[in-house]
Amino acid sequence: AAGPAASTPPAGGITYEDIGGLDEELDLVRETIELPLSEPEVFARLGIDPPKGVLLHGPPGTGKTLIAKAVANEVDATFISVSGPEITSKYKGESEEKLREIFAEANESAPSIVFFDEIDSIAGQRDDGGDMENRIVGQLLSLMDGLDAREDVIVIGATNRVDSIDPALRRGGRFDREIEIGVPGEAGRREILEVHTRRMPLADDVDVDRLAARTYGFVGADIDSLTTEAALTALRRARRDDSEVDLATVEVTRADFESALAAVEP
Ligand code: ATP
Repeated sequence: AAGPAASTPPAGGITYEDIGGLDEELDLVRETIELPLSEPEVFARLGIDPPKGVLLHGPPGTGKTLIAKAVANEVDATFISVSGPEITSKYKGESEEKLREIFAEANESAPSIVFFDEIDSIAGQRDDGGDMENRIVGQLLSLMDGLDAREDVIVIGATNRVDSIDPALRRGGRFDREIEIGVPGEAGRREILEVHTRRMPLADDVDVDRLAARTYGFVGADIDSLTTEAALTALRRARRDDSEVDLATVEVTRADFESALAAVEP
């Protein structure tokens, strides 16, 4: 039995609401992925092939995985997550077989999204790699070419090093869309801060605008750490000040964010 793909965490209920900033990027992703999955016949009618692959590239922690999960969730597609490094290490010698299994599973459970995290580790330039790398890239190419336009399977690859992807994979019919997911600016950071403090009881003295201005260089993952650290600081503070404190009343204050800012670096 093929069994589940390398790792198959569910898309985890992630929605577009969980993504801060990245409005334009998200629009592009939706345009590229939602329509082919929800209404593949539109493309057939127009006599064009729907896109099969999208490459999301940018620094770590900027939301590439988040976007892939959100799209899968919003279009009700099966989300199959595959770690690139795992394919070459854990399934060493059986990497191609593993890839075939993953695509077979994707076809069976279509509509589906196959998400390759750190795809550069399995799709590096063939010239640079050894025999094994060459075979894996070759297998991935042929599996993507083999995806029938009517089979609503879309492959999303994420990478921090788009230049190291084999050019053959970046041609039409394969990963023919590339969307850059960059480091957020101040407005983006503000939105991400809002996402991560949405369910947090904030004290009145917390100024999210000010936090956005003070977190230059932070990506989404850093902001996630920052808000978590601030909340934990609030908890520690409350217990230190009053061992009988009702934890249900604890609020996260500006001072808690100050401590967190001192502890979390981008
Ligand atoms: P990597 O290349 O390391 O896999 P990535 O770009 O896939 O990074 P994610 O895994 O999507 O990054 O993000 C990690 C965590 O950071 C998310 O679970 C989320 O909590 C937070 N995060 C990142 N970007 C955003 C964002 N734009 N809005 C809200 N949260 C974000």
